[in-house]
Formats: sequence, structure tokens, C-alpha cells
Amino acid sequence: MTYDLENIFAKILRGEIPCDKVYEDDFALAFHDINPQAPVHILVIPKGAYVSMADFTASAPADLIAGFFRAVGQVAREAGLEDAGYRILANAGADAHQEVPHLHIHIFGGKRLGPMLTR
Ligand code: 5GP
Repeated sequence: MTYDLENIFAKILRGEIPCDKVYEDDFALAFHDINPQAPVHILVIPKGAYVSMADFTASAPADLIAGFFRAVGQVAREAGLEDAGYRILANAGADAHQEVPHLHIHIFGGKRLGPMLTR
């Protein structure tokens, strides 16, 4: 899939539209989801033009891959989720209902989340 430079997270990365930022470093930006599905619902996105996890891990430089995953862990820690627990999730493609074609990891927490998928 070709990366769409006009997707909403690309615009957030470029500062063209605002976000409720919780973390930023050279590799990643994290912000609150606009439509939270749990008391804590944070999105972490890599600083680069990657559609999906497969695209990112095949194409991104190693320092960006490492930095991005470190950022995901850091955000979960800083959100205070380590003790009670949390869930991370990344949708890819139509079957997963990916709405925004820029790789993003959801971090959910703040309540008992129940089983992985509703049937
Ligand atoms: P996906 O279904 O692609 O995995 O998730 C996309 C997520 O992005 C959804 O949870 C949706 O609420 C969130 N989202 C969509 N547009 C915006 C936006 O402009 N700002 C923020 N903060 N979140 C957004």
C-alpha cells in the first residue's frame, strides 16, 4: 500500500492539526485518541511514512524501530499502567478495520479490559 501523505496522522506529525500530546522523542509521537475506548487510550506513532507494522519492520532503519518500541514502553510506564496492566494493539488493513493508514499502536488501560476480542 502506498503511503498517503495527507492521512490524519501525517498531518498531526507535521503539526498541521493539533493533538493532545503525551510523549515525543526523535522516533515517536504519542497522543490521546480522539474517541477513547478505555479510560486510558493513547496512540503511539513512528516519525516516518509507514502504513503498517509489516511496512515499518521491513523498511524502517533499525534505530527508528528500536526507538519506536522503546517509546511505546515508556508511554505505558508514564501512563502508570505497568502495575494494573494494559493492552497494546495495531490494526493493519481492511480485515482489522484500520482507519488511519499510518502505523499506530493503541495503548488501552485503566480498567479490566476483558477478553481479547468480542465475538
Ligand atoms: P485504527 O482503526 O486505524 O486502528 O484507529 C484509528 C484511531 O485514530 C481511532 O481510534 C480514532 O479514534 C483515532 N483518530 C482518528 N482521527 C483522529 C484525530 O484526528 N486525532 C486523534 N487524536 N485520534 C484520531
